Amino acid sequence: YSAKRARSGWTVYQAELDRGSPRRLNMVGELRQAVEEDQLLLHYQPKVDLRSMRDAGAEALVRWRHPRDGMLPPGAFIPLAEETGLIRPLSRWVLDRALSDGRDLAAAGASPGVAVNLAPDILLEPNLVADVVELLRAYATSPRRLTIEVTEGAIMKSPARAKAVLHALHELGVRISIDDFGTGYSSLAYLKELPVDEVKVDRSFVKDMAVNPRDACIVRSVIDLGHNLGLRVVAEGVEDEAALNLLRTWGCDVAQGFHLSPPLATEGWLRRCRGEADAFEEP
Ligand code: C2E
Ligand code: MG
Ligand code: MG
Ligand code: MG
Repeated sequence: YSAKRARSGWTVYQAELDRGSPRRLNMVGELRQAVEEDQLLLHYQPKVDLRSMRDAGAEALVRWRHPRDGMLPPGAFIPLAEETGLIRPLSRWVLDRALSDGRDLAAAGASPGVAVNLAPDILLEPNLVADVVELLRAYATSPRRLTIEVTEGAIMKSPARAKAVLHALHELGVRISIDDFGTGYSSLAYLKELPVDEVKVDRSFVKDMAVNPRDACIVRSVIDLGHNLGLRVVAEGVEDEAALNLLRTWGCDVAQGFHLSPPLATEGWLRRCRGEADAFEEP
């Protein structure tokens, strides 16, 4: 990974950084520094295949090791990054690091693929497809090992352009996943028009599935809908054995959640891929 490459990738316009309060400006400055000075890191949460109970991949989740405030979750800085345009260098960094870690894991004889979350603006970034091509080549990685997670909101922001970009990525062999499925304001029509490979049932439906018949009904319906469209269905936020068993009974393909594994530091994910890991907590 080179900071120079991240900077030269997607431009941040100064005007976007100049709005707002001194405190905000300060955080914007810190965040820009974070991207340049390698204060960001990725944790990996396994996506577990429910038939084999083996890892089908992992989702890269960004964190910021803030020099003063300690480890910050994405919710504490992604919105600011999106408002200021810093999401561009940040996303470029995430893609670069996730593919570079993926290459290291493959070299260690382990690791299925990696999934990366893309913010709405990044889906519309003109350089996105070219950059993905460049990074896949740089890390000698098969496109099949990369999954892009996008939300319904990201697609609806500019459906025609999202469609073109997702088709281009899919043509390369990159897998397309719809994240937080069921929570956005969107039409189901895009499922028919877009090259979608996977839907992720949002955690809000999975959470109370065992006690709330309406949530259970929604989850089962999404599983059936996904399967009827030939998609892989992933359930997120699986926090206990009861939820896991229901999902297996209903034929859900993949699950993710604290009950299966928290997000792991790169080293923990590597050890888990090699079969060395017992129990790891998110550091
Ligand atoms: P997401 O893509 O839906 O990611 C799943 C979130 O749920 C992660 O939170 C994960 O730690 C959490 N989670 C996993 N299993 C469980 C569980 O069993 N119970 C509960 N309560 N939570 C669980 P995290 O890491 O804080 O990420 C939050 C969101 O931030 C992500 O939601 C994603 O939308 C965004 N995000 C994360 N990394 C990136 C990134 O690199 N780029 C962009 N643009 N967004 C990111
Ligand atoms: Mg996600
Ligand atoms: Mg999600
Ligand atoms: Mg979610």
